[in-house]
Amino acid sequence: RSFEEIGLDPRLVRALSKKGVEKPTPIQQVAIPLILEGKDVVARAKTGSGKTFAYLLPLLQKLFSSSGSKSKVAPSAIVLVPTRELSQQVRTEVLSLIELCRVQLKAVELTGGADMRAALAGSPDILVSTPGCIRKCLSSGVLQPASLSDSLEILVLDEADLLLSYGYEEDLRALKAHIPRRCQCLLMSATSSADVEKLKKQILHNPFILTL
Ligand code: AMP
Repeated sequence: RSFEEIGLDPRLVRALSKKGVEKPTPIQQVAIPLILEGKDVVARAKTGSGKTFAYLLPLLQKLFSSSGSKSKVAPSAIVLVPTRELSQQVRTEVLSLIELCRVQLKAVELTGGADMRAALAGSPDILVSTPGCIRKCLSSGVLQPASLSDSLEILVLDEADLLLSYGYEEDLRALKAHIPRRCQCLLMSATSSADVEKLKKQILHNPFILTL
C-alpha cells in the first residue's frame, strides 16, 4: 500500500516524494496506521528498517491537527534517544519534514551541555533529547513538571534497548511520573530483552507489538 492508502496527510506524502521516498517500508506500513489511530506501539525495528519515519510521520501528522489548539508552555511530543548523534539526526529529519510541509511547528534538540533554558524558551512543539537531559530540565524547573503533564501527547522511546544499556533507566523512571495517562507512547527497539519488557510494562498501555 502507498503512503496515501495508509492514511498519511498529503503534505507529508508530497514532502516524502521530494526526498525521493515513495513507498512505505514494511514497518511503516503497519506502524503508521496504528499510531494515527492513537494506539501505543512497540516495534522491533533496526536502523535501516525505516523506523524513524515510522514514528515521525504519524507524530507530525497528529501535531498538524492539535497544534495551535491551546497555548502550550511545554512540548506536545518528546522523542527520547540514547545519543547526541541520534538526537541530531532525528532533529534534522523533523526540521526537513516541517519545512517541506510548510507547517508552523517548532522542533528542538537538547542534549548534554546545551543551554536548556534557551532551547526551551521558544516553546517547541517537539523536543528531541536524552532521558538524562529531560530529567535535568524537570529537576531544575526549566521544564515545569505540571506543564509537561498538561501538554505531552506523544512520547517516543527510540532505540529503547540502548536507552537502557546506556544507563538511562533511573532517568526514565523519574520522567514516568510526569507522563499523563492520555499520552500515546511508542517504543522502538532493535532487540527485546527482560529490561525492554520491563520498560514496556512501566510506560506503555496495552501496546500493539510489531515484529517485522
Ligand atoms: P532508519 O531505519 O529510520 O534509520 O532509516 C534508514 C534510512 O532509510 C534513512 O536514510 C531514511 O531516509 C530511509 N528511508 C526511510 N523510509 C524509507 C522509505 N519508505 N523508502 C525509502 N527510504 C526510506
